[in-house]
Amino acid sequence: MNIEAKKSRLFALYDKYAELARPFFASAVCEKGCADCCTSVGRVDIVTLEGMIILKQLKSLDAAVQKEVQKRLKQNRKTKRESKFARCAFLLADNSCMIYPVRPFSCRRLYSIQRCGTTGPTVHRQAWEAAEQVQLAIRQLDSSGCMGHMSYILQLLSDARFLKFYVTDQLSPQNIPNFAANLGISANRPARPLTPP
Ligand code: SF4
Ligand code: SF4
Repeated sequence: MNIEAKKSRLFALYDKYAELARPFFASAVCEKGCADCCTSVGRVDIVTLEGMIILKQLKSLDAAVQKEVQKRLKQNRKTKRESKFARCAFLLADNSCMIYPVRPFSCRRLYSIQRCGTTGPTVHRQAWEAAEQVQLAIRQLDSSGCMGHMSYILQLLSDARFLKFYVTDQLSPQNIPNFAANLGISANRPARPLTPP
């Protein structure tokens, strides 16, 4: 399946989750401007396929905005290396999302029935389980890629060598650069089992 077909399947999976979670979202207190999930309590991990979509959207923005986002992504990487939560590079000053139509599944699955504050979201178990299943399906769909924090995945996709491995389906745990592996980035396709001696 080519990348464009995979993108269509990805949005179908987003829709599937929205349908599954609709009864639970009904009791969510989330609203525009509430953004703890984008600043202090969120973990915005994405798969490479989502990174391709987000990068395309980023390139459609004004050059000055792109430059500012790249600066923030660099800051995000530094903050993550210090094991702290980072304010998302795409969060606008009014706490709205700059890339809302193409936000990744990590953001789409999030909701809470109580304001998050600093304690994190309160969700229904069934919704969490459904989200885990959909996340797994997304990783299987993007089997030639990997998953990790958005700021790192976007950086990796800007590396021509990595991009070639990805689009030609040659990415394996061994081909993930050392710096990335040390930052919790993992291949979506599990490593081949070792052959017994
Ligand atoms: S998940 Fe939490 S922080 Fe995010 S919008 Fe909902 S209540 Fe607000
Ligand atoms: S991509 Fe958008 S919704 Fe997701 S964390 Fe960033 S600002 Fe929030």
